[in-house]
Amino acid sequence: MVPFLDLKSPYDELKPEIDAAIQRVLDSGWFILGPEVEAFERAFAAYCHAAEAVSTANGLDALHLALLAMDVGPGDEVIVPSNTYIATWLAVSQCGATPVPVEPRADTHTLDPTRVEAAITPKTRVILPVHLYGQPADMDPLCAIARRHGLRILEDGAQSHGARYQGRPLGAHGDAVAWSFYPGKNLGALGDGGAVTTSDPALADRLRVLRNYGSRVKYVNEVKGWNSRLDPLQAAVLRVKLAHLDAWNDRRRALAERYTRGLAAVAGPDLTLPTCPDWADPAWHLYVITTPRRAALQAALTQAGIGTLIHYPIAPHRQQAYAELGLGPGSLPLAERLADEVLSLPMGPHLQPAQVDEVVGVITRFFQAA
Ligand SMILES: *Cc1c(COP(=O)(O)O)cnc(C)c1O
Repeated sequence: MVPFLDLKSPYDELKPEIDAAIQRVLDSGWFILGPEVEAFERAFAAYCHAAEAVSTANGLDALHLALLAMDVGPGDEVIVPSNTYIATWLAVSQCGATPVPVEPRADTHTLDPTRVEAAITPKTRVILPVHLYGQPADMDPLCAIARRHGLRILEDGAQSHGARYQGRPLGAHGDAVAWSFYPGKNLGALGDGGAVTTSDPALADRLRVLRNYGSRVKYVNEVKGWNSRLDPLQAAVLRVKLAHLDAWNDRRRALAERYTRGLAAVAGPDLTLPTCPDWADPAWHLYVITTPRRAALQAALTQAGIGTLIHYPIAPHRQQAYAELGLGPGSLPLAERLADEVLSLPMGPHLQPAQVDEVVGVITRFFQAA
């Protein structure tokens, strides 16, 4: 049996450290914001080569509050990838703004910079690339377009903790990055959590006020804010796990290379493996293959006791939630094809090389039998 994702082993490996961190919070008697949260924010900002990190209750709030802090509101447009988790789009909608989808590059599955300018209108405020599956989006051309048009860049880094673009960590490129610490992410808490990293002090200041009831001083409310704070218990756990992130990402990279080597012989028109441009050092949140024979392949893997998932089976514009946009079948063909063909193989720092070999074996036999 090869599970798609193992959420128990990360705790088992770090149990003494995590238990001690949790005990420290319990003993402190401090359960909202405070020193534990501030210590994590400093450590995570430094890790991302950003001046500041402002933590939030989850990744969706990090995206939403970052857009609000960038003054995105009703009537505005935000450029988003056509193929992403729906949270990227929901954050825009929660501001009263409109998500404007742009198709990805077919090889990297990240926002295609050559298609972005055609989508810019006088209402555009922000470009919101997603580092999908842990693959960094092509930031240099996106930043150049943003500069030319006076737009801001908010990156969705929910799947990409530890990824690098042109040798520098994500967090050092656009205006801000929104992160999620959902348990299954590369840097995952034991519950919900999120953060925004930025080197813009005004943006960080607005975020700190927005996430805490619009208040800087207790019971003095400057704006109508939200309650979206990272729990000190989660902050303490994240401080422990941050110290192991690079080593765990190294394991993911080795497993990804093992998949790619093992599957090279059966790659072709029926099976596409992840491509990795030379500017990208991915975090390998997911190892995603593309095949027009997905249903049969997934059935064969399930039959063999191997867990797989589809990220994501329905493109956001085809969700009922976005029926209002009137984007019918065929309106974003690349996103729709990817929704039909992508398949995520087991991946994680506690997956064993022998398990990768088992998955490779089943996939190889499937395509050789054809
Ligand atoms: C997980 C995820 C989010 C949302 O994070 P939550 O913490 O679950 O709210 C946003 N965008 C992407 C691409 C994600 O994978």
